Amino acid sequence: MGLSQHPERETHSSGLGDFLRNNQNEIIADWTTRMRALAPACELSDAAIVDHLPWILTRIADFVASVHTGTTVSLGTLPKDHAIDRLARGFALDQIVTEYGLLRRSILDLWGARVGPTVDLNEVQTLDKAFDESLRQAAVRYAEAREKLLKALDRISEAALGPDDLEAFLEKLLRAMRDSTESVDTAVMLLRDGDILRVRAAVGLEEGLDETFSIDPPEGVSGHVAAARQPILVRDAGTDDRVVSRAIRAKKVRALYGVPLLYEDKVIGVAHIGSLTAIEFSEEDKLLFRTMANRATSIIVKAELVADLRRAVELRERVLAIVSHDLRNQLGVIAMGANLLGMRVGQLDASADIKKPVDTIQRTANTMQHLLGDLLDMASIQAGRLSYEPQPTVMQSVLADSCDSHQAIAREKGVHLRCDVAIGDVEVMSDRERILQVLGNLLANAIKFCAPGDTVTVHADIRDSDVLVAVSDTGPGIPREELPKIFEAYRTIPAGSGRRDGTGLGLYISKGIIERHGGRIWVESKVESGSTFFFTLPRT
Ligand code: ADP
Repeated sequence: MGLSQHPERETHSSGLGDFLRNNQNEIIADWTTRMRALAPACELSDAAIVDHLPWILTRIADFVASVHTGTTVSLGTLPKDHAIDRLARGFALDQIVTEYGLLRRSILDLWGARVGPTVDLNEVQTLDKAFDESLRQAAVRYAEAREKLLKALDRISEAALGPDDLEAFLEKLLRAMRDSTESVDTAVMLLRDGDILRVRAAVGLEEGLDETFSIDPPEGVSGHVAAARQPILVRDAGTDDRVVSRAIRAKKVRALYGVPLLYEDKVIGVAHIGSLTAIEFSEEDKLLFRTMANRATSIIVKAELVADLRRAVELRERVLAIVSHDLRNQLGVIAMGANLLGMRVGQLDASADIKKPVDTIQRTANTMQHLLGDLLDMASIQAGRLSYEPQPTVMQSVLADSCDSHQAIAREKGVHLRCDVAIGDVEVMSDRERILQVLGNLLANAIKFCAPGDTVTVHADIRDSDVLVAVSDTGPGIPREELPKIFEAYRTIPAGSGRRDGTGLGLYISKGIIERHGGRIWVESKVESGSTFFFTLPRT
C-alpha cells in the first residue's frame, strides 16, 4: 500500500505538529508497508513492527510543535526502549537507522500529498532534530545493551567451561544473571523431571529455599510459564495467587519474571528472576535474561546428556560385574553338572529317555556360556578394558591348532578346510587364547556360510613388521554396501537374504582383540565369489 494522492489539499495553518497528530494512523500504515519490505522486519507481525511507534510519533509531534509554543519537549526514554525492543527482535543497528529514515519519508510524503510542496523550514529543522536525537539515543542504547549482552554471554560460556557438573554450572549461571542486572535480587532454575519441574539451583533465596521444591505444571508461576511457553511477569510475587513457592513469598519478592527454556520445541525447564524493590524489569533486563536463558539451554541439555551417559556407564559396569561374576559362576555350575550327568547317562542304554533332555541341557548351557562370554567381551572392549596377556607366540602353531579343531565341523558340512600356514617359527606378541578366539570366529563364519563343496583356506604370510593371516572362503560373499559396517557390534546382514542371523558380535569382538594387539583387521568380498578376512599381528 503506497500513498494515494488526496484530491483536495488540506490547509494546515496549525503546522506539522498537528498534522502528525491528526494523521498518525495513515503515517503508521504507510510506514508499516515500507517496513515489511525490510528484512527481517517483514517476518514480524504488524503489531510487532508498529510497537512503540504511536508514542514516538506523539512525542515527535510535541517536539515539532514546540517551535511555536517555546516549551521544552524531551523524547524521554522512548527511542531507547525502542532500540532495546529492536535488538531483542534481532535488528542490526543499520536497520534501526533505516527504520527512522522510512518514518521521515512517510511523514514528508504524506505532507506533500495532503498539504502540498511548501513546509515551514523551522518545523522541518525541528523534525530533523527530533530524528537526529532519536537516532543518537537509539545508537548509544543499542551499543550499550549489546555490549552488556555479549559480556553476559561470555560469562555463561566461561561458567560452562568449568567441570561438567550441572548443579555447579546452574549456580554460576544464576549468579551471572543476578550480577549482570542491578534490579535482580533472586534467580531460580527449575528443570523438568518427568512431568514436574524441580528446583535445581537458586541464588538470593538460600535461607528459605526448599531443595526438594517441585511444581506440577500449570501450577505456580513456573508452571504457568512452562504451560504457556511464554515469559510471564508478576508484579507482586509476595501476594500474587499464582506464586506457590514459600521461599519467594517469605522473601517478599516483588517483580518476578519467568522464562521457559525451550530446546527443540520442548520446555526443558523454567528460569525466573525476582526483585525485592522493583515491580517491573526494564526491557533491557528482560532481554538480557531471556538471552542468557536461551544460551544456557543447550549447555544444560548437553550437561544432562553427559550425566545420563555417566549413569548409563555406571549401570553397564554394575551389570557387567553381575554378569561376569555371579551369573557366569552359576552357569558354570550348571554346565559342569550337565557334563557330569552326560557322562553318566552315556553309560546307559542308548535308547534311555533321559539322554535327550540331558543332551539339550548340555548344549544350551554351552551356548549360554558362549553368549555370556561374547557379551562380556563386547562390554570390556567398549570400556577399553579387554583382558589379554601377550606372550611370544609361534604363530604357525596357533593357526594349525585352530584349523585342526575346525576340521570335524567342516567335514560334517562337506566343506574343504585347507591350512596353508608354513611360516616357520616366526613369533608374535599375542595372547594365544584371544587369537584362537578370533580364528574361531572367522572359521566358524566361513564354514557356516559355505555350502557343501565350497572351500575355506587359512593362509599366512610373513612381512617386514607383521604376520598377515587370511581366512578366505568360496561362499556367498558379502554385499558391497554391508562391508563398511560389518565390524560394528550387533551387525548382521538384514533378514530376508535367506541367511541365518547371529548376535552380530563375533566380528566386533575379533576387531577389538586384533586392535588390542596393535594389529589391523579387514575384509574383502564379492557377492557369489566369496570373502576373505585379513588380520595382521606385529612381530616381536
Ligand atoms: P555372529 O557373531 O552373529 O556370527 P559376526 O559379527 O561374526 O556375527 O558376523 C556378522 C555378519 O557378517 C554375519 O551375520 C554375516 O551376515 C556376515 N558374515 C560374516 N562372515 C561371513 C562370511 N565368511 N561370509 C558371508 N557373510 C559373513
